[in-house]
Amino acid sequence: MRTAEIRQRWLDYFASKDHAIAPSVPLISPDPSILFTIAGMVPFIPYILGTQDAPWPRVASVQKCIRTNDIENVGRTTRHGTFFQMMGNFSFGDYFKQGAIELAWELLTTPQDQGGYGLDGDRLWVTIWNEDAESADALVRVGVDPKHIVRLTREEIFWDTGQPGPAGPCAEWHYDRGPEFGPEAVGGTVDPGGDRYLEIWNLVFDQFVRGEGRGKSYPLLGELERKAIDTGAGLERIAYLLQGKNNLYETDEVFPVIERAQDLTGRRYGAVEPDDVRLRVVGDHVRSSLMLVADGVTPSNEGRGYVLRRLLRRTVRSMRLLGVEEPTLQHLLPVSRDAMAVSYPQVATDFDRIAQVVYGEEEAFLRTLSAGTTIFEGAVGRARTAAGTGPAVLTGEQAFALHDTYGFPIDLTLEMASEHGVSVDETAFRSLMQAQRERARADALAKKTGHADTSAYQQLHAALSGEAGAPVQFVGYTDT
Ligand code: ATP
Ligand code: MG
Ligand code: MG
Ligand code: MG
Repeated sequence: MRTAEIRQRWLDYFASKDHAIAPSVPLISPDPSILFTIAGMVPFIPYILGTQDAPWPRVASVQKCIRTNDIENVGRTTRHGTFFQMMGNFSFGDYFKQGAIELAWELLTTPQDQGGYGLDGDRLWVTIWNEDAESADALVRVGVDPKHIVRLTREEIFWDTGQPGPAGPCAEWHYDRGPEFGPEAVGGTVDPGGDRYLEIWNLVFDQFVRGEGRGKSYPLLGELERKAIDTGAGLERIAYLLQGKNNLYETDEVFPVIERAQDLTGRRYGAVEPDDVRLRVVGDHVRSSLMLVADGVTPSNEGRGYVLRRLLRRTVRSMRLLGVEEPTLQHLLPVSRDAMAVSYPQVATDFDRIAQVVYGEEEAFLRTLSAGTTIFEGAVGRARTAAGTGPAVLTGEQAFALHDTYGFPIDLTLEMASEHGVSVDETAFRSLMQAQRERARADALAKKTGHADTSAYQQLHAALSGEAGAPVQFVGYTDT
């Protein structure tokens, strides 16, 4: 099943279960406390917190998401994209644990020719809170193998907002990909960090009112009057299972970009791991950039724009490390557009604008790279000489000069340094940055208030006017 079909099937299934269907909101988060939409629940936060009445008792969506905390995972795990689509179903005071568990089981295990995803129910594992007997019962009743129900502590499985208010346990569904991917889970764990058990769907049960307390050590003050269900399933993760692939980068919405990158670089995907990681990074980041620019983000040095800039720069650098120094995005971006336009037609209709932003950034970065790389390599050479047989370190001054004069952002310097086996004195770099910021702030303040430090001029004026002892004669008009 293609990713777009899995997506549509989700919406059709929940519509048939009386859910309203909400369109995806943009990647620019509608909630001002976060930069990006990071989960399907983001547009529904007021309904989950109970600060606003939901317009429907139950709703489903497929939400575009960006998670920058996963950037380093991309290409290294089998399951993390910086962009991904979170499929969700939500209930605000309507069905609760039992209903959510029945829906999840039915959709996952109903055969594909009957409208479900046709996953093998015997391979499903679910982690729950060790005090959540209601979920345990509901899971056994629908057909989950009792040996596959793993009980975790509150620290491991509770959801909350970090503040007094709603909180509750989760039930996380994992799929056992089989013994070829590692040993069977024993001793009451499903290692979500491993490759064998893939976390596919998180059901959050918004059940309790919590009080003050650090971490998860807050008191549960009672049950919420109006309980909510908030779930999130990874579309790309289910696609990777249903398409029989090894990871989400090999699914139909990402792999075409990797194939094009193979042609451009002449490297074959599947030959050596470091190249595979870079190819996956390219596949992922090109798509994330496409979707971000489509939603109105443009490259800049801060906030969302900086995330986009980083994604594009990492793409360019990955392609260089794969051996191509010329611009490549003009070849890669249209491939990603074609893969994504089925579900998001705007990436095609608005492509000229998107392409202009992306290609412009690539061009600018290639210029930065060609100017800075020689300087960077010189600095690495000097660091190695200075270190002798010890570990080589780029000084804070070197990193600062790269940043200040050549436009090399620190994470680029860090990344390139680590590729060269050299570390960077980041603390010294940060304090130089801090000093620069303070100078800039003082300058800006002086400009704004007119309160510049004029003491030198005052002294000079005093000297010339004779206020400070014998008058000094100014000879600057005739002598140098
Ligand atoms: P993981 O432990 O694998 O990082 P998570 O626990 O952070 O996932 P949740 O916050 O529970 O993920 O999000 C709900 C679902 O969204 C996950 O079960 C998964 O299917 C999907 N998901 C989360 N992060 C990503 C990602 N970076 N790429 C693709 N799918 C994701
Ligand atoms: Mg995560
Ligand atoms: Mg997890
Ligand atoms: Mg989770």
